[in-house]
Amino acid sequence: MGDTKTCGRCGGTKPLVKFHVDRRAKDSRASACKECILSKQREYYAADRQKYIDRASNYYRSLTVDELLAKKSADKKRRLEDKDRQLQLHREWVKNNRETYAEYQRIWQSNNRDHLNEKQRRGASDLKDRYVKFLLCDPNASPHIIEAKREQLRLHRLVVQLQQAIIEVETTEKETP
Ligand SMILES: [Zn+2]
Repeated sequence: MGDTKTCGRCGGTKPLVKFHVDRRAKDSRASACKECILSKQREYYAADRQKYIDRASNYYRSLTVDELLAKKSADKKRRLEDKDRQLQLHREWVKNNRETYAEYQRIWQSNNRDHLNEKQRRGASDLKDRYVKFLLCDPNASPHIIEAKREQLRLHRLVVQLQQAIIEVETTEKETP
């Protein structure tokens, strides 16, 4: 049973993923399961609710406008960096797991056909920035790059339309004796 562990608090035997990673522990997992830790945190919070609220509001009240602006821009920067890091990790994972990813996409697409159609219909028909950025796999693509990609997509669509028209003409010509 290498992939399970018994919780030191509730005594339940659960898969390892149900325990937080804890580098200090021998098996690199916390002794109590995630559920127990969450309920412990909820107890602490419920017992001292007002203290937590006061602490947070005092912190905000003591900030000057400059500090608040600096905090907001630092938060935003951190969020963007985290997004970049996640994207980077995702790309690396896809590169190393192409087959798994293809299978995942196939299953996801068949499960989310409606969602995908809706999303594509919204962004793809008029080649919105959001859709072009998605195709570029770059949320921070510059306007020049977006416009260039959009132009490429327009040309590509035109070529596809022409090819379809040619095929139609050819098939009708074959059918007519
Ligand atoms: Zn537990």
